[in-house]
Amino acid sequence: MTADRTVPAPEHLGIDVIGVPEGTDLKLQLQLESVEEGVLVSGRAQAHLVGECVRCLDPVERDISFALQDLYFYDDLELEGDDGELRRLAGDTFDLEPLVRDTLVPVLPLAPLCRVGCLGLCSECGAHLADDPDHGHEILDTRWAALLDVSTTTSSETSTSTRTDSSTASPHTEATGPDETKVG
Ligand SMILES: [Zn+2]
Ligand SMILES: [Zn+2]
Repeated sequence: MTADRTVPAPEHLGIDVIGVPEGTDLKLQLQLESVEEGVLVSGRAQAHLVGECVRCLDPVERDISFALQDLYFYDDLELEGDDGELRRLAGDTFDLEPLVRDTLVPVLPLAPLCRVGCLGLCSECGAHLADDPDHGHEILDTRWAALLDVSTTTSSETSTSTRTDSSTASPHTEATGPDETKVG
């Protein structure tokens, strides 16, 4: 038996950064097969994901299609080692929502991107770097201004030490002096 149907997505079908918005179409194409212990459900689900790019915060939208398969046991069937985690039929119906959720959530991207290699936002002004790859700013950061002060100080120190050098050179000049005097 096959069952194709479109149902509204339940709330919170997804993770923080991406998911299926509540009430949007969730398309299910399922095969239901009676087996000894219950009903084997298999097929595919299709949904529309909406999220946010983790780098630039632009909206991310894409369609997703994923396979579903699990066995729903008869609700009165006693099974050894049943820890209550098994899916169960409720009379002749079954709850698909936990199966859809358990299958979809693990395959969602934890860090969705709006495009491959999204460059993100400028750390200075928040501009989209993809729209303006040559984007840059004049260096007006106070840390750089402090660095400029240091380099000014260093150059004045250098001139001081140059003066020290010339005064050290003075005795040498004096030493040369007597020689010249001798020559003279
Ligand atoms: Zn992006
Ligand atoms: Zn910028």
